[in-house]
Amino acid sequence: MDLSKKILFAGDPHGNFKPLIAAVHQHKPKAVVLLGDYDLESPLETSLQEIVELTEIWWIAGNHDFETPDKHHNLFHSTLAHKGLHLKVADIAGIRIAGLGGIFLGRVWYPPQTPKWANKQQYIDAQRPHIRGGEMPLKYQCAIWHDEFHALAQLKADILVTHEAPGSHKHGFSVIGDLASAMGVKHIFHGHLHENYAKVIKHSIQVYGVANAAVADLAGNTISV
Ligand SMILES: [Zn+2]
Repeated sequence: MDLSKKILFAGDPHGNFKPLIAAVHQHKPKAVVLLGDYDLESPLETSLQEIVELTEIWWIAGNHDFETPDKHHNLFHSTLAHKGLHLKVADIAGIRIAGLGGIFLGRVWYPPQTPKWANKQQYIDAQRPHIRGGEMPLKYQCAIWHDEFHALAQLKADILVTHEAPGSHKHGFSVIGDLASAMGVKHIFHGHLHENYAKVIKHSIQVYGVANAAVADLAGNTISV
């Protein structure tokens, strides 16, 4: 087996899972990691039913996955919900992969600005009592929270997958490179910006952007099927 195909990374499907499904049939990876923005009209396992028994499926969420209660439910209450990598490190086919889903939001934290809230509890406590008891609005659930980001930085990993881009992209955030460096990460794969590219950032960290509905292998090569 071609070792670079042992894990594949899927850029924002936005409802189109065909390239990922075809790549799994062709390359039979041990695992796939999805980089967010699914726009799910049915539960994730239904969209991926052709491959769900063929490979391990891991994921992080993108901003689109918080757009409506249905899209959110189809991801976070799917049978693959426990395969979410956000703020975690998992051993995936022998490689430690860390995940950071969501996006930076001005109303929560937009680096390099100071965070608006230290953590979710501080935000909740500042709300009116009738709101405090309910679920945090999806818009806020979608955000990257300063304290959680720094807790992730305490962990160690080989690869970091993010929805947002690091400073390698003009719309990226250099704090993601700092996070990767703190974690000992050597490779970052990200989605969101719909662009395939490879770039090296500070600390010799290799970044791969994966375009919408594109699939990349561990060496950052775009898989064509
Ligand atoms: Zn996105």
